[in-house]
Amino acid sequence: MMVETTIQSMTGLMDKTKSMGKSIGFVPTMGALHHGHMALVKQARKECDVVVCSIFVNPIQFDKAEDLNKYPRTLEKDLAALEQAGCDVAFCPEVEEMYPKKEHKTYDFGLLDKVMEGRFRKGHFNGVAIVVKKLIEIITPDRAYFGEKDYQQLQVVKTLVRQENLPVQIIGCPTIREADGLALSSRNVRLNPAQRREAPLIFQSLRTAKELFPEQTIEQIKKKVAEMVNASPELEIEYFEIVDADTLEAVTDKGQKAIPVVGCIAVKAGGVRLIDNLLLNA
Ligand code: AMP
Repeated sequence: MMVETTIQSMTGLMDKTKSMGKSIGFVPTMGALHHGHMALVKQARKECDVVVCSIFVNPIQFDKAEDLNKYPRTLEKDLAALEQAGCDVAFCPEVEEMYPKKEHKTYDFGLLDKVMEGRFRKGHFNGVAIVVKKLIEIITPDRAYFGEKDYQQLQVVKTLVRQENLPVQIIGCPTIREADGLALSSRNVRLNPAQRREAPLIFQSLRTAKELFPEQTIEQIKKKVAEMVNASPELEIEYFEIVDADTLEAVTDKGQKAIPVVGCIAVKAGGVRLIDNLLLNA
């Protein structure tokens, strides 16, 4: 596996790859890699000739300095895991390489980046959009792989690609979970033992929402989920929203129309923020 740190070396390598007629699959990450990331790499490995994975903790998508500073950084271990999973190129730039200038464009994604995560993490999706566009321009992938775990991010990225006419196919991949249902996340290592014990309640509450979906009202389901999560002294619900799977508009009345509907949740376990989601009507 090759490890590149500069944009110039990366674009040179990608130009050469393209000129040989090879397809490029791209998996963007912030490192601290786990089996969820590896599932994306493996899917790219199956579908593309050359697999590129980026490891870059993107400072401009963090709204809290504490979260950025405490973000786990495990580069050596990550590179070994990527090599093992069959990745061909790891792109690991420094912040100055990606952002030589301080000022950044502001995107407008309408409702998509204002609800849920957008409400609680100001500027987060703008930072995500900036880094994803930059990485796609450097790597020029045919396909880019994103986890459904970050459902709103996936919708924002799909919209970014449409709005900016980026010639890449965005592929959403299923959420990988621990045996007890907790969605894998780089932040899970920051949970203390008591928080880790209680954290599976997050997915359990989503499963309950799905079970209740056919017979209860949206309000009843939302109340039940909040009660389940908040019953734990270790967890505090930040939001649970039931939304149109495409537009992320809040669904208030189930009778409206037959659209796929997703339940999206954010929970705080002490200083650690965890998110998850589940399709409720499929
Ligand atoms: P991150 O390093 O957290 O920015 O995540 C990089 C990519 O991995 C994103 O597309 C995430 O949605 C995806 N990802 C993170 N956790 C999981 C998971 N548990 N299952 C599947 N994909 C995931």
